[in-house]
Amino acid sequence: MRIGILAIGTELLFGQTVNTNATFLSKELNTRGFDVLYHVTVGDNPNRMKEELSTLMKKVDCVITSGGLGPTEDDITRDLVGDYFKRRLIEHPDALKEIEEYYKKNNRLMPKSNIRQALIPEGSIILPNKYGTAPGFILQEDDQVIVSLPGPPSELVPMFNTYVIPVLEQRLDKHMYYKIIRTFGIGESSLEESLMSIIHGQVDPTIATYAKPGECSVRVASQNTDLQVAKKKVEVTIARIKELVGEYIYSENDEELLDVVFHKLLQDNLTLATAESCTGGYIASSITDIEGASQILLGSLVVYSIQSKIKLLGIDKSLIDKFGVVSPQVAIEMATKTRMLHSTDIGIGTTGYLSGGKDVPEKEAGRVCWAIDFKGEVISGEFYLKRNKKRQAFKHYVMLHIMNALNKKIG
Ligand code: AMP
Ligand code: MG
Repeated sequence: MRIGILAIGTELLFGQTVNTNATFLSKELNTRGFDVLYHVTVGDNPNRMKEELSTLMKKVDCVITSGGLGPTEDDITRDLVGDYFKRRLIEHPDALKEIEEYYKKNNRLMPKSNIRQALIPEGSIILPNKYGTAPGFILQEDDQVIVSLPGPPSELVPMFNTYVIPVLEQRLDKHMYYKIIRTFGIGESSLEESLMSIIHGQVDPTIATYAKPGECSVRVASQNTDLQVAKKKVEVTIARIKELVGEYIYSENDEELLDVVFHKLLQDNLTLATAESCTGGYIASSITDIEGASQILLGSLVVYSIQSKIKLLGIDKSLIDKFGVVSPQVAIEMATKTRMLHSTDIGIGTTGYLSGGKDVPEKEAGRVCWAIDFKGEVISGEFYLKRNKKRQAFKHYVMLHIMNALNKKIG
């Protein structure tokens, strides 16, 4: 089913309001197998609104409008849609009652102008608005559908999810099934190259790669009248992708790497502590973003200076003198010491130079050393960061790098 989204509101054209409704609707519709073909934005101007609606209706099966359902003079979407399908606007008693109740519930007097919001084109399906006053509506005629939704996202989102999806899905002749595979440690172009034999000439399922900071995803999607057939096709393709790049895959269900590791740790009853220098506590902080963090993370030390590494963590000064503060040897010692200190199963240590600076030897800029002490067994490594990113992005990358190693270790 082809869909066009018509966002109505002069504030959108002024750049005062970001058109999040279009993004939201597109995401929701595409994942369900609808084809969103157009985003059109128009101001609160009757002639231009009419022109854009007519143009869109020639090219798609369904137009979803957002905005212009408010009580004020410039809110004219209901007139627009009524005119298009040549339907009278009639006062809808249930809608009026709901608007009155909304005001009563909020202890406010209903302005007369709000009665306008109960005017709905004759023959519409009314979409109740639990979070505001303007009801939405769906008008269908033969093969054409117009869905009109209020502008505020807090009203549009629940209305769409609750009432619009079921109506539109009845008109859907194909089902969509998709999965998103997440990888770490392979660049987007290498990933695409590795998958070329299956991407090339592939129509169904479609295979698309996306790059995110530090990682890449592959979306495998199939559409079919029979959902089971689509599912099967996706699974077969995923099996082939696993043969080609399986070593880089950490999730087949679009999960974050940290979440994947976190849940494995939780399942295996493993605890963790960090000693962070270059990541400045970012790893510990990211873990605390996840519910249940206290079951995993027992403690963390941010030991940024050499002094604090020696004093707080008990790193041997001679080790730092011998190998340098950014060295695998120091990272390993940090991981082990924090593990001992916190009596955890796992210790993580990071030390590095995120960027250059007056205290940083030229050759060392961007060098990161890390270590994991897993119940006394040590894994460590080092790499150089490219110099074109923000420090925050570097910290995120270092975190992902270590989580990837930990993920492989716990299997
Ligand atoms: P309206 O239904 O036109 O009265 O819109 C009411 C409010 O919803 C506007 O003032 C905006 O803050 C918000 N809004 C309208 N259209 C959009 C949109 N496309 N995306 C996000 N917010 C919107
Ligand atoms: Mg408006």
